Amino acid sequence: MEPVIVVHGGAGNDFDERVAEFRAGVEQATHAGWDVLLRGGSALDAVEAAVRVMEDDPNFDAGHGSFLNANNEVEMDAMVMEGARLGYGAVAGIQRVSNPVSTARLVMERSRHSIFVGAGAEQFARSMGVPVCPMEELVAGSSIHLLRPEDRIFDSACSSDSAGSNTATVGGQASQTGDTVGAIAMDASGLLAVAVSTGGTAGKMPGRVGDSPIIGCGGYADNELGAAAATGSGEALMKVMFSKTACDLMGSGMSPQQAAEQVLRLLERRTGPSQGGIVLINPAGEVGSAFNTSHMVHACISGGKEMWIRD
Ligand code: ASP
Repeated sequence: MEPVIVVHGGAGNDFDERVAEFRAGVEQATHAGWDVLLRGGSALDAVEAAVRVMEDDPNFDAGHGSFLNANNEVEMDAMVMEGARLGYGAVAGIQRVSNPVSTARLVMERSRHSIFVGAGAEQFARSMGVPVCPMEELVAGSSIHLLRPEDRIFDSACSSDSAGSNTATVGGQASQTGDTVGAIAMDASGLLAVAVSTGGTAGKMPGRVGDSPIIGCGGYADNELGAAAATGSGEALMKVMFSKTACDLMGSGMSPQQAAEQVLRLLERRTGPSQGGIVLINPAGEVGSAFNTSHMVHACISGGKEMWIRD
């Protein structure tokens, strides 16, 4: 099979002036993942490498640069999945590791469980020899990631309207999404894999977990269906099992592009004006993407071809 990798740097609306930085970071991450595939590495190695680059880049809401929660702390979520055996590992609400995606991979490969949260996730990471770092190191110097004190007050823990939609609000505004990172890849053996990492939504309540670490929501990979990495309003994406639904649409015969557009329409129709974006690869190595925000910087390299990048 011709290897392929697709990387995104989050779907959002408010970063017109920062698109160049996102493009540079996504480009670098895509090349990092592609280099792994070129050297004969697995799809899982490739997506982990790509996501680590963006976790280390303070421009993205993942690892270093994670959005702060309402207590001005970092709580990060990450997942990995591989499509041969449906291997899956995730961490949620982890606070003191630089690269949550690698801890998620350790969960998948070295534990008998699938998801670790909070202090347990950190304890697991330590037990695996992952170095812990002060939380301050993860907080970006950039003021875009810092909430003003007045914005830290939640109107309510979680308001539920008559349609049953949950909207965490900060200072009357819906929590800000964007800059979450994800990567999907297929290697020469046909293995599909996904990795997703995020600091979650800005100003989220402590303990809030979004779609990103949840199987079938933030990401999914099944060699028989395809691979998906999602971004957007986690509370909404979970309701339609955004990534698994997109993979099922590919499994039913849709092209990745058709499936990406269809799952986005489903999100809009069933969850109100929710925002999201998705990148997809099918088992034939074809690619699709869709988003309903102003930007979702994403890039792709597939066998022998030049990288393309779109925002
Ligand atoms: N989906 C992420 C979350 O809800 C946010 C994002 O994609 O920007 O935690």
